[in-house]
Amino acid sequence: MSDLAFAEMPNQAGFFGEYGGQFVPEPLKEIMNQINQAYEEICQCDEFKTELASLFADYVGRPSPIFHAKRLSEQLGGAQIYLKREDLNHTGAHKINHCLGEALLAKYMGKTKVIAETGAGQHGVALATACALVGIPCEIHMGQVDIEKEHPNVVKMRVLGCTIVPVTRGTATLKDAVDSAFEEYLKDPHNFIYAIGSVVGPHPFPKMVRDFQAIIGKEAKQQFTQRFNQLPDYVTACVGGGSNAIGMFSAFLEHPEVKLVGVEPAGKGLDTDQHSATLTLGKPSTLHGMACYVLEDEQGQPLPVHSIASGLDYPGVGPQHSYLKDHGRVTYDSVTDQECLDAFMRLSRVEGIIPALESAHAVAWAIRIAPSLDPEQRILVNLSGRGDKDADYVANLLGLA
Ligand SMILES: *Cc1c(COP(=O)(O)O)cnc(C)c1O
Repeated sequence: MSDLAFAEMPNQAGFFGEYGGQFVPEPLKEIMNQINQAYEEICQCDEFKTELASLFADYVGRPSPIFHAKRLSEQLGGAQIYLKREDLNHTGAHKINHCLGEALLAKYMGKTKVIAETGAGQHGVALATACALVGIPCEIHMGQVDIEKEHPNVVKMRVLGCTIVPVTRGTATLKDAVDSAFEEYLKDPHNFIYAIGSVVGPHPFPKMVRDFQAIIGKEAKQQFTQRFNQLPDYVTACVGGGSNAIGMFSAFLEHPEVKLVGVEPAGKGLDTDQHSATLTLGKPSTLHGMACYVLEDEQGQPLPVHSIASGLDYPGVGPQHSYLKDHGRVTYDSVTDQECLDAFMRLSRVEGIIPALESAHAVAWAIRIAPSLDPEQRILVNLSGRGDKDADYVANLLGLA
């Protein structure tokens, strides 16, 4: 299996080396295989390809530009930092790329309802947006605690016409929302589809979501080649489940001269129990229908995780990242909450760009490494989303409110 070229992964059974697969009950495997087959069909279909390409252009606003963070680079006195501006997409992040793909697939398969969970509400808003556009009912399960915390996103989802199911069981947060959404899905998996929010879950989701996100790297490679006649020296992105990172990395995997770095949340420190650095400190196991690195206790239960960026606190990680770590093609490093906050403020004040706290992890890594490189070198940072959603929180934390 390991002799498969990166671009040919996963194999037929959905494995990236030993990771991925379908760790779900037999009847659900059948459903997943139908989704895979439908996906393979639409990939061959010109009508679908044309529709998705025109939505990327006219609806999302692609291609997203690459911006030279000149003042920041000058201050750091080392490598030049470039930002891939996924924050400029419609709805403000990369998530719309795969949500559009999933909503179109649902329509193609004649599904009657798209179901998903959401934590902070980012996946919910992107999915509700795509479903409104495509004209398919959307049901989002969300913990009651998160509903109260993430009011602006809840309001947006309601305006967009999706049904929100408040989840009050357990701790009434993300994990309980996943359980609730999954139970609803299992009531009628033939007519419903569960739209997974990252490159995680059973095959074919890690592959499908990656393919929809691969537009990021494809554009970036072309933009870099046109502008510099050269590829970047480093490419970096934050890793929660791993969708924005793999979308960016895919185009560069076959170019070993480009160093690829995924950045995980070290939270309050790797030596505390309040982080979410799955690839750095986890071990191979299974979670949510896939084999991947997991942060778990001795009994094999997923550990509670923490990050200042709610989009990054997940105890698992995509199977392809798990494979790429073992293989060594991608390096995984981590950044603390404090470094993330510093990068959030610095990019805001030096370049006038407020990054999402998730994306600020990748910015922080670039800030850490740039001074040790020479000014001819280039670091490409995937700026996965904008920070409007985080501005109130950070302002309160820093006494600016
Ligand atoms: C959800 C989110 C992430 C984390 O998800 P990945 O699948 O790891 O990309 C990162 N950045 C932003 C802006 C997000 O909304």
